[in-house]
Amino acid sequence: MNEREDTKSSRSFIKDKQALQSRLTLTSEEARWQESDEALPLLISSYYLSLINPDDPDDPIRKQVVPSCAETVCTYAESTDPQDEKHYSITNRLIRRYRSRAAFLVTDTCATYCRYCFRRRFSGGNAGPADNNDIIRAAEYLAMHPQVKELLLTGGDLLTLSDKRIDEMITVFRTYRADLVIRLCSRIPVTYPMRVTDGLSRC
Ligand code: SF4
Repeated sequence: MNEREDTKSSRSFIKDKQALQSRLTLTSEEARWQESDEALPLLISSYYLSLINPDDPDDPIRKQVVPSCAETVCTYAESTDPQDEKHYSITNRLIRRYRSRAAFLVTDTCATYCRYCFRRRFSGGNAGPADNNDIIRAAEYLAMHPQVKELLLTGGDLLTLSDKRIDEMITVFRTYRADLVIRLCSRIPVTYPMRVTDGLSRC
């Protein structure tokens, strides 16, 4: 493989079980995982997959991202919203569980879906990115609630948005609340580090 092909393949994604099986011999529990509308989708960056030791069924990275039928064993105690975030939602995108901190769900898309995700009621769904109306409603709430000192831009994964869109979003929140500490929450530096570019760092 030449360098250009190597770069291209490291930027690709595994999106279904068939593609995963062509790259990894699945254990019986992994092979029995079934895609469904309710299940968190399968998505793994080729880069992150390449870090897995294929001979170790207990490889810790594998455990994080390769789906298994064990995760869909539903008992009454399991929940797609274990933190009861719906209860703490101010808008469909803004969650306030604590007096001084709020979380804004910028998008439901990630570069790789973690099988342990505690926000699977939202991640990998159909909501898509927040629109201008979602952002302004959240910013107006924050302007009226100065007790909130910190805002987490989370999801999904913020860095699946373009640099331009991230910049626009931060500008709106800054316009309404110049003092707000804005935290960028992302696993992409780990799962798809090629997204972290010079352009992004200038945002
Ligand atoms: S990156 Fe975050 S939001 Fe996305 S699947 Fe992983 S834990 Fe969930």
